[in-house]
Amino acid sequence: MREDTRRWIDGDQARCWHPFTRQAEWCGRGHEPLVLVRGEGSWLWDSEGRRYLDGNSSIWTNIHGHAHPAINAAIQDQLGKVAHTSFLGFTHPLAAELAERLCGFFPEKTLERVFFSDDGSTAIECALKMAVQYRQQTGQPARNSFVAFSNGYHGDTLGAASLGGVGRFFERFRSIGYPVRHVGSMDELREMSAETIAGVVIEPLIQGVNEMRPWPAGMLAELRQWCDASGVHLILDEVMTGFGRTGEMFACQREDVIPDFLCLAKGLTGGYLPLAATLTTGKIYDAFLGAADRAFYYGHSYTANPLGCAAALASLDVFEREKTLARLPEKTARLATGLAALKSRHPLVHEIRQCGFIAGIELRRPDGEKFPPGELFGEAICLAARVHGLLTRPILDTLVLMPPLSTSLEEIDHAIRALDLALG
Ligand SMILES: *Cc1c(COP(=O)(O)O)cnc(C)c1O
Repeated sequence: MREDTRRWIDGDQARCWHPFTRQAEWCGRGHEPLVLVRGEGSWLWDSEGRRYLDGNSSIWTNIHGHAHPAINAAIQDQLGKVAHTSFLGFTHPLAAELAERLCGFFPEKTLERVFFSDDGSTAIECALKMAVQYRQQTGQPARNSFVAFSNGYHGDTLGAASLGGVGRFFERFRSIGYPVRHVGSMDELREMSAETIAGVVIEPLIQGVNEMRPWPAGMLAELRQWCDASGVHLILDEVMTGFGRTGEMFACQREDVIPDFLCLAKGLTGGYLPLAATLTTGKIYDAFLGAADRAFYYGHSYTANPLGCAAALASLDVFEREKTLARLPEKTARLATGLAALKSRHPLVHEIRQCGFIAGIELRRPDGEKFPPGELFGEAICLAARVHGLLTRPILDTLVLMPPLSTSLEEIDHAIRALDLALG
């Protein structure tokens, strides 16, 4: 190991605290985390000079590949002007342009206002607070609770966490936060009295953290109908599904659904900088006009950060210039073929779940039983795949494969080959 690498690992293990990480193991003897130092396209390099395909798009963020010249140039251009200015009391050209571009994906008079924040969790927080305050200001204060779906994931700040349906993450904080009821299906939702519900929150088409589990086709449209009939707002968490991952620019477009709130983050900047957006309707926006105390008193220091906006605009340009969405079906099909081959070759592959360019590969024992959770079998396979030049993380024993949308057919084959060898 190079001297630098050793020094960086020692420094990390002495001082850093990682997300979702069992730190005792992270800092344990013999654990040598990769130090990632460079990226280009779908590839990342570690400090020892080895390269890996970025199999989970750097935790579901990267869209057009790393160090894309157009996105880098846009950030550098803005950096030459100013890195950050306050959105509280001022505006800047790129925020105005980005808000216009985002609303432009939806029909006139639907989603027409954009509130910027920093990450997926804050995009959700913002939608929840707007939803509650809207009810207070329209004479419906009793509608102050939310419905979310079992096994859903909406982020880790307190309000977002209270929506969370994954017991191992959220159970201990359950009693703090918003009143939330969880349902597993549309049938369960229909049994519920809607009178106290402000909004329903869902990850459309596919639940990410729930081991990449797609919803039944048509379910989102049914949910929209139920919300309309029940006077409930539909809050879509497209933090993972947004920006082409499912094959459409936004997952809701697959079922012609327009939500009352749309939360965007991860891929918004192409995966380059933290920036998020909560889009909402003119009707909701209007309820915040009038007396001063009706304003939305919410915000973050880096709201609408200009570097983030520059990256986001450049990413939208790349979608057009590189015809990212038009080129995706061929890649999605190649991924499906590769995954099917993997399943036919390896009895440990229990189920393949794919939605657009997002795939989950669930591993189980050949008799169909799950592995004991303590065995960390999924993690072991990902470690083995790393040796063959693929980086990804499992969710329990489901391997995630969702490289940047710019990944080529040959690179998809490389990822499948790495998994094949790892499973072997
Ligand atoms: C990642 C994610 C979040 C949280 O976003 P952060 O940027 O990590 O706060 C929320 N919802 C979904 C569906 C996500 O995948």
